[in-house]
Amino acid sequence: MPALLGCIADDLTGGTDLAGILVNNGMRTVQMIGVPEGPWPEDADAVVVALKSRTSPVHEAVTQSLDALRWLQAAGCVQFYFKYCSTFDSTPRGNIGPVAEALMDALRADFTIACSAFPATRRSIYQGCLFVGGVLLNESGMQHHPLTPMTDANLVRVLQQQTKRKVGLVDHAAVSAGAGAIADQFALLLSNGCRLAIVDAISDRDLKEIAAAAAELLLVTGGSGLAQGLPQNFRQRGLLNAIAAAESMLATGGFKAVIAGSCSTATQNQVDVMRVHHAAFRIDPLELANGDDVVGSALKWAASRVGDEPILIYATAAPDEVRSAQATLGIEKSASLVEHALAAIAQGLVALGVGQLIVAGGETSGAVLHGLGVTRLTIGREIDPGVPWTTTMLERPRRQALALALKSGNFGSPDFFLKAWSKLAMVS
Ligand code: ADP
Repeated sequence: MPALLGCIADDLTGGTDLAGILVNNGMRTVQMIGVPEGPWPEDADAVVVALKSRTSPVHEAVTQSLDALRWLQAAGCVQFYFKYCSTFDSTPRGNIGPVAEALMDALRADFTIACSAFPATRRSIYQGCLFVGGVLLNESGMQHHPLTPMTDANLVRVLQQQTKRKVGLVDHAAVSAGAGAIADQFALLLSNGCRLAIVDAISDRDLKEIAAAAAELLLVTGGSGLAQGLPQNFRQRGLLNAIAAAESMLATGGFKAVIAGSCSTATQNQVDVMRVHHAAFRIDPLELANGDDVVGSALKWAASRVGDEPILIYATAAPDEVRSAQATLGIEKSASLVEHALAAIAQGLVALGVGQLIVAGGETSGAVLHGLGVTRLTIGREIDPGVPWTTTMLERPRRQALALALKSGNFGSPDFFLKAWSKLAMVS
């Protein structure tokens, strides 16, 4: 089967989100964790290579992304997709701009688009400004993000800070006129010296028209929503069958647990709801920094609580608590202490017999999968927009199937941690 779409995602949950959307739109998709080795999976039309590059130093993000690109190019992919967060998570240094630039150079692509809109999760772009729900990005809670605080909603300005290439805008007037008008705008911007364009989108229809206009672009960049229109381009070129089934999930059993390392507003609400209904254990970064055996205590607690009911272990905290931990320990140290602890806790939970695990937070999910040694995910049923159940086969501490839901911080309804399990029962 020819390799059609080669995707590079800057974090794990973003990769899973994208893979879920491609599966829902008829592309057989495999998610690989980190730069893959070995051949293209024979049962895949698309591969999503999920990196942990969103918050790495710029040169590391660029190197990893280029390594992933080389593997995808070697497989013969027809088009390439750089996926980042629908809330454009980045800092003035990057990494969206520098990675997009490096991929353009490597592919000799003279123009690409940047469209993070995802209306199903209430992210829309109008006049280049990103709205989350009814409010601007910088008023949505994202201004408090521990690692990538977003303090400006104007994505043309945000991206322009991250790249030397000129950034333009395809506004909604063109987008609402359909794929032809959008492609005309791409050509006009290119002739005006723009190499990247933010594209307005406020509905799935807009995204499909943008994707149709992007059929000939070698590189497309954006959130996951834009990807829903790409399979149709391959179908129209006779490269993709009309219907391709989602891979069947492995049956898993075992105890249920949630690990939350995201401090995003949606996760805070989900943690609050879960705590009302189920046993919960809080991880404090200051105790970790003191050298207390927090992981040991959490696992001792978990051993006495796992059973029919799901349990929650969380570092999730309100913005003032996060700021105070960061002021004491530094941003990177507090993040890495928590990530290492949650990864060790995940290993311990699996050893205790947890077979169904939800992880909240992109960076957190990256750390947890690394700790568990997961390199490949099979994508299954969607729980909420952007969050499918996945399954993987663990090799250690023993060979066993594990169901994983990797939730990007701001995704999911408040009862996500309560309702997700029933979707899994429907699959296995
Ligand atoms: P999201 O998907 O919401 O962005 P991430 O897991 O990507 O979530 O990022 C959250 C970051 O915040 C992680 O690096 C995590 O370790 C860190 N973190 C979690 N809890 C705390 C806390 N209480 N204090 C400081 N940092 C924290």
